[in-house]
Amino acid sequence: MKIMMKAPAKINLTLDVLYKRDDGYHEVEMIMTTVDLADRIELEPLSGDKIRIISHNRFVPDDSRNLAYQAAQLLKDRFNVRSGVAIGIEKVIPVAAGLAGGSSDAAATLKGLNQLWNLGLSLDELAEIGAEIGSDVSFCVYGGTALAKGRGEKIQHLPAPPNCWVVLAKPTIGVSTAEVYKNLKLEGLKRPDTKAMLEAIHTQDYASVCTNVGNVLESVTLKLYPEVALIKEQMERFGADAVLMSGSGPTVFGLIQHDSRMHRVYNGLRGFCDQVYAVRLLGDGNPVD
Ligand code: ATP
Repeated sequence: MKIMMKAPAKINLTLDVLYKRDDGYHEVEMIMTTVDLADRIELEPLSGDKIRIISHNRFVPDDSRNLAYQAAQLLKDRFNVRSGVAIGIEKVIPVAAGLAGGSSDAAATLKGLNQLWNLGLSLDELAEIGAEIGSDVSFCVYGGTALAKGRGEKIQHLPAPPNCWVVLAKPTIGVSTAEVYKNLKLEGLKRPDTKAMLEAIHTQDYASVCTNVGNVLESVTLKLYPEVALIKEQMERFGADAVLMSGSGPTVFGLIQHDSRMHRVYNGLRGFCDQVYAVRLLGDGNPVD
C-alpha cells in the first residue's frame, strides 16, 4: 500500500513579532494561508524498521535533518511503531524560501503515516505532535487560512481570503530563518495591523487585504539581501495589487485579481528571476491531502 500526499506551501499575509520570550523563542502573530504550489510525498512500507528519505533535490537532506524524517521518527517513538517507511519527496516548493516547504512535508508525513500505521489520531493531535518538529508544522497540518500565535503553533482557523492570483518570485539565495530572527531589532518596527487584516478577511474586502499585508522580517532580510528589495520593486512596478515578502524570505509574493495583470507580472518577473510561479490561494478547509 502506497500513500500519496500533497504538501502545499504557505504565504504570510501578515507576520508580526511581539517580543522575545524567556525561552528564547519569539512571540509571533501571523496570518498564513496555503497556496496551490505543493510538494508530493509518497509513503511506502519498508521491510525492517528504518526510515528512508528519497529525494532528488540536492538541497533536501536525506537523513534525520529532514523534517519529514523527524515526523516519522516522532510517530515511531511515541506509538511504538515497529514498521519501516520510505518517504519519497518530490520537491516543487523552493527550499529555504519562506514558504514552509519542509514544515509542510513534515505535516503531510504525519497525516499520511497516521493512515498507513492506523494510528487513529485527530488533526488536533497531529498538529500538537507537529509543534515538536517546528513552529510552522501545526499550521501545515490543518492548511487553509489561520491566525497563528505563540511561536506559531497556536492556531485559530479563519475563513478563506477573497480569492486571487499569487505570483511568487524567489531570488537564487536561500535565507536562514534563525539568522533573520537573530538580526531583528524589535524597537521602531513598522508593524502590520493584524486586526485590520482579520476584519478584511471576515468581510471579504480584497482591497483592504491588499492594504494591510505586512511583515516585520522585511526590515532584516531586505537589508541583508538587496536583491529581495529589487524583486519587490519590480513586482510593484509590473502592477501587483499588493507585494510582500513571505516568512523570513527571500520569496516575494504579489496578490493580483485580474488574469491579464497576473500574466504581465509573471512574465515581467521571469526576466529577473529563475523561480517564478503563478498560483491560486487554496482558501479554507483542509486541502493538505
Ligand atoms: P520556514 O518558512 O518554515 O522557515 P522555509 O521555507 O524558509 O521554512 P524550508 O524549505 O523548510 O525553509 O527549508 C529550510 C531548511 O530545512 C533547508 O535548508 C533544509 O536543509 C532543511 N530541510 C529539512 N527538511 C526539509 C524538507 N523536507 N524540505 C526542504 N528542506 C528541508
